[in-house]
Amino acid sequence: MTDRANLEGQIAVVTGASRGIGKAIAKELAAQGATVVLNYNGSEAKADEVKHEIVEKGGCAQCMQCNVADYEGCEAFIKAVIEQFGRIDILVNNAGITKDGLLMRMSEEDFSDVIDVNLKGTFHCIRFASRQMMKQRSGKIINLASVVGISGNAGQVNYAASKAGIIGMTKSAAKELASRGITVNAVAPGFIETEMTEVLSDKLKEEMRGQIPLARMGHPEDVAKAVAFLASEHASYITGQVLQVDGGMVM
Ligand code: NAP
Repeated sequence: MTDRANLEGQIAVVTGASRGIGKAIAKELAAQGATVVLNYNGSEAKADEVKHEIVEKGGCAQCMQCNVADYEGCEAFIKAVIEQFGRIDILVNNAGITKDGLLMRMSEEDFSDVIDVNLKGTFHCIRFASRQMMKQRSGKIINLASVVGISGNAGQVNYAASKAGIIGMTKSAAKELASRGITVNAVAPGFIETEMTEVLSDKLKEEMRGQIPLARMGHPEDVAKAVAFLASEHASYITGQVLQVDGGMVM
């Protein structure tokens, strides 16, 4: 059962909240009482649906478009959040893309696009939201990494580099921001059922499942629960950590 009092009155920003894991995170934080800013890039209608689902259940949410790869766009986005809500208690850097391909065939563009959204997008949002959190002397930042940032994965040099970078960024930011009462942690999902993994062949999915001790793909809600924990007061003495949510896939 979710505890509405857990995050009551808190303002949470979730990037990439229109689909998949970000949608589940936004719904979970709202169910625990937070007012959630639902960021999206292109999927306005889907973000709007998420908002309606939250509001129907008695929660509070607001959609805001921003391409996290755009530095100035992120500055304006975070400024708009602060103007409207006055503070930011929780920032979840979830927006992410894949452009898979073998190293020898990967274009510079495909490498850069993934770094720009996943790694630089995370930096941009932390850069501007942490300024407000420092003033508040409180805040919780949770970054979506991936187990492939730990283990590596053939065909994903761009994506794995972005996720390994997020882990290094998480630990560095945790050290910089701890004295201001801000915690920074990462969640590293394994193989989760979303549109991102839907495109993989059945053969590959079966092979991946075979590598998971808990013998199933994860659900977005499995990741959302871990993020909600790190966003809560229950995790106030945890910072600079990477919590794997992967059914035991990488250990
Ligand atoms: P998804 O279903 O493809 O959804 C991606 C989300 O990111 C969408 O809401 C999308 O918004 C948003 N997004 C993409 N580019 C953006 C940009 N430039 N600016 C703002 N938002 C942008 O992906 P997912 O599977 O839920 O993955 C969510 C996060 O978990 C990602 O960081 C991913 O790397 C990580 N992860 C996923 C898995 C997995 O197995 N699924 C495993 C490990 C880690 P629009 O719809 O508006 O484009």
